[in-house]
Amino acid sequence: MFLLSLLASQAQLGIRTGFVTPVSRVYYHRGPLISEPTVYVIWYGNWQQTNRTDNAAGQQIVRDFLNAIGGSPYFAINTSYSINSNVITGNVSFGGETTDTGSQGKKLNDLTLVRVITNAIVSGALPRDANGVYFVLSSSDVYELSGFCSRYCGFHRNTKILGSDIKYAFVGNPARCIRACAPQLSGPNGNAAVDGMVSIIAHELSEATTDPDATGWYDLAHYENADKCAWTYGHHQYRAANGAWANMGWDYFDGGGSFLYHRDFMIQRNTVRVFTKSGLQVNYCATSYDTATGKFDQ
Ligand SMILES: [Zn+2]
Repeated sequence: MFLLSLLASQAQLGIRTGFVTPVSRVYYHRGPLISEPTVYVIWYGNWQQTNRTDNAAGQQIVRDFLNAIGGSPYFAINTSYSINSNVITGNVSFGGETTDTGSQGKKLNDLTLVRVITNAIVSGALPRDANGVYFVLSSSDVYELSGFCSRYCGFHRNTKILGSDIKYAFVGNPARCIRACAPQLSGPNGNAAVDGMVSIIAHELSEATTDPDATGWYDLAHYENADKCAWTYGHHQYRAANGAWANMGWDYFDGGGSFLYHRDFMIQRNTVRVFTKSGLQVNYCATSYDTATGKFDQ
């Protein structure tokens, strides 16, 4: 009995670990998937503040995450949604970034948000890419009146811009509502808000890849793969150097291959799609997936 409770407490190590039992299954709705997304970032608002979150160091956390997520065991979860000739490779490119210091004001709505993306493409600041996912990342002094901080922490959608089906996402800086949109009050990279933001970016990127036009993968309640595991961080958490909880990390090297630094991240789980021996599809919340063996970590 003692041993049992000890094991149980070890399995509970961390915050918001989440369940390990199967989640309800997701279905394919015959629409396109993105085989290999390219991420574009539009920094919206003022990312040069002295509030210790909307600053250059915060932007670098996002860049480093976007440069590491492609090919990772984490993003490989999305490869389990490959079906027929629609293959999701697990790779992601970070295609570039631009800044909009506030062309649509500090109070965005869903229409002016699209204008931000349209402007970035029409001006040539970012290429027009139907395999792209355009992230508008707003600074903490920007509102999104359709419900950032009250109804959602981020969302993704698609729209036509210059004749292309453009996939985009909005993710605001959770410093506006740290308890609602971040899992902890200190982050593994010392910026609780932006550390929370990258987890939401990961969530939206997975969904934009597996359900880009709302005709891909989702369950009977219309939950997409990342929705089903939102705000759970799994059972392999550890303390980052500063004591914050983390569940994955990468080393960074310069162009010559010399070690620069290590970063830890606390990224919410995503649903993996696997099969029983008898061929039945089952879905679990996971933090990683091994495409070679079909094994996953929860
Ligand atoms: Zn979602």
